[in-house]
Amino acid sequence: MSIKIVLAGNPNSGKTTLFNKLTGTNQHVGNWPGVTVEKKVGQLKLHKDVEIIDLPGIYSLSPYSLEEVISRNFILYEKIDLIINIVDGTNLERNLYLSTQLIETGIPVVLAINMIDKVTKNEDLINLQSLEKYFNVPVVGISALKAEGIDELIDASMKLIMKKTNIKPILWFSEDVEKVITQISGLLVHLVDENKVRWYSIKLFEQDQVILNESIFAKDVSREVTKIINDSYPGVDTESLIAQGRYHFIEKVNEKVFQENKLKKQKTSYKIDKILTNKWLALPIFGVLMFLIYYLSISSIGGLLTDYVNDVIFGKGGIPDILRGALDSLNASPFLEGLLIDGIVGGVGAVLGFLPQMIVLFILLAILEESGYMARIAFILDRIFRRFGLSGQSFIPMLISTGCAIPGIMASRTIKDEQSRKMTIMTTSFMPCGAKLPIIALIAGALFSNSPIQWLIAPSAYFFGILAILISGIALRKFKAFAGDPAPFIMELPDYSFPRLKSICFQVWNKLKSFIIKAGTVVLAASIGIWFLSAFDLSLRMVEDVDSSILASVGKFIQIIFAPLGWGNWKAAVATFMGLVAKENVVGTFGVLYGFAEVGENGAEIWSFLTNDFTSLSAYSFLLFNLICAPCFAAIGAIRREIGSAKWTWIAVLYQTLLAYTLSLIFYQIGLLFTGAFTAGTIVGIIALGILVYLIFIKKRPKHNEI
Ligand code: GDP
Ligand code: MG
Repeated sequence: MSIKIVLAGNPNSGKTTLFNKLTGTNQHVGNWPGVTVEKKVGQLKLHKDVEIIDLPGIYSLSPYSLEEVISRNFILYEKIDLIINIVDGTNLERNLYLSTQLIETGIPVVLAINMIDKVTKNEDLINLQSLEKYFNVPVVGISALKAEGIDELIDASMKLIMKKTNIKPILWFSEDVEKVITQISGLLVHLVDENKVRWYSIKLFEQDQVILNESIFAKDVSREVTKIINDSYPGVDTESLIAQGRYHFIEKVNEKVFQENKLKKQKTSYKIDKILTNKWLALPIFGVLMFLIYYLSISSIGGLLTDYVNDVIFGKGGIPDILRGALDSLNASPFLEGLLIDGIVGGVGAVLGFLPQMIVLFILLAILEESGYMARIAFILDRIFRRFGLSGQSFIPMLISTGCAIPGIMASRTIKDEQSRKMTIMTTSFMPCGAKLPIIALIAGALFSNSPIQWLIAPSAYFFGILAILISGIALRKFKAFAGDPAPFIMELPDYSFPRLKSICFQVWNKLKSFIIKAGTVVLAASIGIWFLSAFDLSLRMVEDVDSSILASVGKFIQIIFAPLGWGNWKAAVATFMGLVAKENVVGTFGVLYGFAEVGENGAEIWSFLTNDFTSLSAYSFLLFNLICAPCFAAIGAIRREIGSAKWTWIAVLYQTLLAYTLSLIFYQIGLLFTGAFTAGTIVGIIALGILVYLIFIKKRPKHNEI
């Protein structure tokens, strides 16, 4: 006779570590049938007749994610003698949710409270005896990593297997709910195994579709069940009722068995956290802080610095003037003068002009990060993100993406569940990276300089990035490829500390470095290319007016695409396409095409020419599109590497661009409506808004029923 034991628990709770300790080298690694999820099977050391199976890490037994379906089916339909439920002792409350479900299956369960070494190190206490009473199952404290408590665990497991008596279930739901469950149990007595009655009753109460479809339940049983539910809980979402019941119970248990280190509460960090991570205050504080950061760096201090630098370096008497004087005295050809001044100085200079704003922004962000505040934000956002199908885990990549999306996309590697990871890879580039900053600053400075809402433009770009990510979270979860609950977010919060000058400088320099290098390479090359194409016409004669250049003929061809977004002019269209190479090129292209190096020469306000082609409305629509659309080629390459398939890379890029187009379209057309213009475009805009709202609000939640 052979005995089957499964290891079940949350991801990262230490299953694999324990599995290795239990089996030694007697293990076999394969896949679960039909899918690429790893399956590990082994023999318990010194017990050749005991087989151990390492299940995929899961947070619940609901049939939403692939891992859940695999684990659930295995537990329900294979003959299993025992479940060892591994619980991460440092995250007791979160882990016990699964425990309640495992115990309900009626299969004998031993709770292995893992990471006891860490708990001890934190000077926290877990009352194992009391936990044993609450759950009515054996509880053993272990450290899989340090191989402590393993023998006790094996003993407790063997004892329980030999016992062979049915375990009396603990009724952890409220009295009202338990009453209904008991009623349903009455219907099942002869239909299912005695020790499975409670599990099935709860599932039927939850109206679990998979269980309802099982052939053992004839039509009349489901009808009876529906009647019982409707009598007591008409119109109630019983699935969430049960989930709430579990949370309620676990919260109570956790309060009783987990004793947090008292000293922790006297620490300054703890006191600061009381305010900064307060349930109600946390988000407003975060909002205000980020607002201030973007406002300070783009609109006020940073803006003034940039204006100053632009006026001194690129204005009257600045580099273009000096260079022109020198070239004139050398009798240089108009070709060379155009290339150097309009092409290189115009393009690269336009981009570098925004450096001061960038420095201020990076310094402020680095201070927040170094102080330990950003780690808290990830934690706080987890609560909100979770509702939108994302988890706080996604915030780390987002945070990194405010510097550059490439390391941001790479950082999504740490996200455990496949769906959330894919979604994060696809959306994290919506955050305004350093290279998009010049676009934001340009629009805010040049097109909103006399507007009463100028101060809003830069912060709004940041929050719009987050909004686009949230919208994607909600909408994409409705599709099968992204279905499932996001993994809970676990991280250790560092103590607050005073940011050190050295590490701030290091961080800021690291981010600036790549920006400067790009200005000297990619942007330089692009500026030269753009200048050539804008300086000659199709018969390769130099033109006076860029509007008759080669680039203009091409641009006028593609500008139609963007006309519905309000900026169907060829310069904007070309700039947007150049942004695919590097986002700095958007501003660089404008620099060349609008004669950045010429304007300041007459003492005019640099960039003032943009107002000829843009209104405030179309300028913001342009900004939105360039923020959200496909990132630069390098970032697309990062997406390709992280998402692992060409097909998904295409999906990502198309999704990003389509979303950008839709949002800008809605923004511009509905905005026009407010100015009194109602056109065919308005109707298209309203339809697009309708589709978006529909995707956000439909209640579809696909389940992985197959396998
Ligand atoms: P799984 O996802 O459940 O298979 O978890 P793993 O076995 O891969 O462990 C996740 C992480 O937790 C690894 O870095 C382990 O080294 C660590 N770990 C596992 N057990 C313990 C433990 O008892 N104490 C400590 N401190 N770390 C542990
Ligand atoms: Mg594992």
